[in-house]
Amino acid sequence: ERMVTGELQSEDATIELSLRPTTLNQYIGQHKVKENLKIFIQAAKMREEPLDHVLLYGPPGLGKTTLAAIIANEMGVQFRSTSGPAIERAGDLAAILSSLEPGDVLFIDEVHRIPRTVEEVLYPAMEDFFLDIVIGTGPSARSVRIDLPPFTLVGATTRAGLLSAPLRDRFGVMSRLEFYETKDLCAIVERTADIFEMPITKEAALEVASRSRGTPRIANRLLKRIRDISQVKGEAEISLETTSLALKMLQVDDAGLDHTDHRLLLGIIEGFNGGPVGLDTIAATIGEDSQTIEDVYEPFLLQLGFIQRTPRGRIVTPKAYAHFGINRQE
Ligand code: ADP
Repeated sequence: ERMVTGELQSEDATIELSLRPTTLNQYIGQHKVKENLKIFIQAAKMREEPLDHVLLYGPPGLGKTTLAAIIANEMGVQFRSTSGPAIERAGDLAAILSSLEPGDVLFIDEVHRIPRTVEEVLYPAMEDFFLDIVIGTGPSARSVRIDLPPFTLVGATTRAGLLSAPLRDRFGVMSRLEFYETKDLCAIVERTADIFEMPITKEAALEVASRSRGTPRIANRLLKRIRDISQVKGEAEISLETTSLALKMLQVDDAGLDHTDHRLLLGIIEGFNGGPVGLDTIAATIGEDSQTIEDVYEPFLLQLGFIQRTPRGRIVTPKAYAHFGINRQE
């Protein structure tokens, strides 16, 4: 399994529950998103209405699930959670929605993966809080209307563009989560170290932060591994030296890139003289799925300025060439 992917892995599950901040004030970074949500939450509470439906989008591991749970907590309602692929039939959705209490938050991860037939049932539920369900088949089929308690849907997805336009239009609030700035990620590393009672030097925390791809989940995962090595070495606090050594052992480079990123970038440099080259060609060359490249690998490389998207395909920038110490052939 990739050390530096923002996607949830089995080893994360054991630590993440204890690390989730529970209030907006504890939620580090994402200042713009937080400011907006604060206002919307306050206004909804003053009107004694449920919060508008919220769409959170951005790469995995940036804190969408965490934020959804915080919204429920700040609104003082229950948090219920499911995912797009888990809702196979309209009946599944009906069961979930009719079990909600008024005002509850229903979180749907990977909301773009709700089957289309279910999605159509969701529209009136989001808009007017009722469901039209067809019971039976053939001539005896009839449509039954079920009234629902008002609720807030919080949907999460990697890219807003993955949603159909009618579904996207039904979210009153759309918030894009950004990669974290190093100083915010550093604060997250220090918070995690604090919770786990593992002392860490300022320089070491900064080093973890600057090599975690702007992603809290990755920072926490790396920190856990670094701690193991630090403990084996018998350190009283995690040092910069151990951190650098551990990251080297984990094959994470100075920019937070690993073997997969290297293959992607070097594939374009060596195979296509830096591009431009189309996404599908890259995918075929390195043997990865183009959707995964676009949603998981590429966003951080774009953010770093190591690749650029052009109408003719991806190009590797001079900055990436410099990272590898390679001269571009003219
Ligand atoms: P996503 O749903 O976007 O994949 P999660 O909400 O599951 O991401 O976040 C992954 C982990 O990262 C959480 O368990 C939490 O420990 C940590 N985390 C995310 N955002 C923050 C934040 N703003 N402050 C502190 N920790 C965070």
